[in-house]
Amino acid sequence: MRDHDFTKILRWPGYRVYQYEINEEAKTLRLWVRRKRGNRKPECSGCGRKLVDYQDCREREVRDLPWGEFRTTVVVEVYRVRCPDCGVKAERVPQLPSKAPFSKRFEEAVGLACESASARQVARRWGSAASTVRSIDRRYLERRATGRRKPALKQMGVDEIYVGKKTKFLTLVSNLETGEPLWFGEGRQQEVLDEFFQTQLRAGQRRRIEAACVDMWEAFTNSIHQYAPQCRIVYDKFHVLQHANQAIDEVRRAEFFRQGGRARDLVRGKRWLLLTRWVNLDTEKKDNLTPCLPSIAA
Ligand SMILES: [Zn+2]
Repeated sequence: MRDHDFTKILRWPGYRVYQYEINEEAKTLRLWVRRKRGNRKPECSGCGRKLVDYQDCREREVRDLPWGEFRTTVVVEVYRVRCPDCGVKAERVPQLPSKAPFSKRFEEAVGLACESASARQVARRWGSAASTVRSIDRRYLERRATGRRKPALKQMGVDEIYVGKKTKFLTLVSNLETGEPLWFGEGRQQEVLDEFFQTQLRAGQRRRIEAACVDMWEAFTNSIHQYAPQCRIVYDKFHVLQHANQAIDEVRRAEFFRQGGRARDLVRGKRWLLLTRWVNLDTEKKDNLTPCLPSIAA
């Protein structure tokens, strides 16, 4: 196989393989690459400007996708450019996204694998340490987050989360359409949600919110009324039921007390019995309640 064939299989745009080394025993492949002839103007990694003038050239070694059973390492020539704006800077190489010793497509393959398996499993599959896989995954996610347009926030979810005695509550804002958490702040006062509106959304974005799902915590609704008055507020079903149940509970209790002394004695210690739906009670329990509760049990 000639260097030319290696270049074709490697497929690093703008680069060619000029030397290789195959170790059959260790199952490793090393490829030395440099810029192709028509690709001689390195780009400044600071500003993206193309430059002819360069300071020096060094070799960098990165792990790339395997070739069959062979673990592949690419040794690439990297220039340092003299940029009039940024000074001496490393050139930008699309396949080298960070200082870590991995090619971009290697990190993408590992990051993708992490979406459906634990870091430890991915590490075993790729023959790396779990900690290495975790940092690759972090970089992969960061790049993906900066590279994509965030979907517009139309349906907003606001929740409070209890995190323990010290911090107590966190306010969590999420995009209900995509199911993504967007932001969290410490505490659950109105100012916390105000801060989200002030720092995370521009006026236009606030106007585009159509609905917000919140629990029945007044601080949140106040903040929404102030910053997104057009937005319709939907109460979380769980919290509506919680309030409704409390109301029913109160009515039932009031009814018992209205029955007077004899009934009250019977009621004492039977709260759960009283809150059970009549149809779900067995005969013995119904008998237990019937004498004092003509108005409710009937
Ligand atoms: Zn520059």
